[in-house]
Amino acid sequence: MRPTGRMHLGNYVGALENWVRLQGEYENFHLVADWHVLTTDLNTADIHQNTVDMVIDWISAGIDPKLSPIFIQSQIKEHAELFLLLSMLITTSRLERNPALKEQTKDLNLEGKISFGHLGYPVLQAADILIYKADLVPVGEDQVPHIELTREMARRFNSLYEEVFPEPQAKLTKFARLPGADGKRMSKSVGNTILLSDPPDQIREKVMSAITDPQKIYRNDPGHPEVCTIFVYHQKFNPAQIPGVESGCRSGVLGCVDCKRNLAERLIDFLAPFRKRRRELERDISLVEDILQDGAKRAREVASSTMVEVRRAMRLGVIC
Ligand code: ADP
Repeated sequence: MRPTGRMHLGNYVGALENWVRLQGEYENFHLVADWHVLTTDLNTADIHQNTVDMVIDWISAGIDPKLSPIFIQSQIKEHAELFLLLSMLITTSRLERNPALKEQTKDLNLEGKISFGHLGYPVLQAADILIYKADLVPVGEDQVPHIELTREMARRFNSLYEEVFPEPQAKLTKFARLPGADGKRMSKSVGNTILLSDPPDQIREKVMSAITDPQKIYRNDPGHPEVCTIFVYHQKFNPAQIPGVESGCRSGVLGCVDCKRNLAERLIDFLAPFRKRRRELERDISLVEDILQDGAKRAREVASSTMVEVRRAMRLGVIC
């Protein structure tokens, strides 16, 4: 993930929760993708603080850095080398067709202003994934086109040279596209996030401002949970009360204000352990720095050994 700020619920239910779930079952690598930040923001003043905040959120959510190395992309130069080599295996027109790039160009008003690095961002992401010979990439739905590009590059490399890379699969959760309070995909760039570290009052305020079923205007109007953002949240964070919430909404007995109040309290309870662990970790951020140093050492071992195979397969740097 890019160190662009604190984690929100979309990051958690779409990706981070799977990272925690797959821990122990798989060997996991967690990358702080700082080079990727530069694709859309050249101001690096906040990168360090954002990295610390993001890593604290990961650990608060249950990532154990002893089991799964956490490291900063720019500390492992092999990613840049593999990026360069993979960039020869893909056409610019294929990258221009990338739907995520088209969406960003529109959202951030970047028409005619896309940098070479931004266009090639999925190639760098492919290098980040393939260098650890990943089988699975636990991400949200918006990332699926990038994993498809990664698979294409792995196939191309393997057929041109030698079978070095497995073809990775995206691993999605049941909530791979969590909406924000406005109904659009929850995202930092849209500004509709609920953060894992939000205090209770802020959670209440954000939940109360969420849009619900537009046809339910008066309290006793029958509602349609299938079109309601708050109902999606109940499914995830309040599963025990789903039958009551659903029938109450449909019959009109349950009004949106009460339904939101209930959800906000469930969410506050759900996030309480995250906030507690964050407070503990914030007391000594040198711990985060140690985790990142240790993670870089372990990641570098794997990345450099993959690059030996890659150079050998491509006959690069062979002197005699
Ligand atoms: P943002 O869109 O807020 O900048 P990122 O691009 O940093 O989020 O996403 C980090 C990870 O979280 C990615 O795997 C992404 O697919 C996932 N993710 C982001 N937003 C959501 C969401 N609303 N629902 C599900 N997964 C999400």
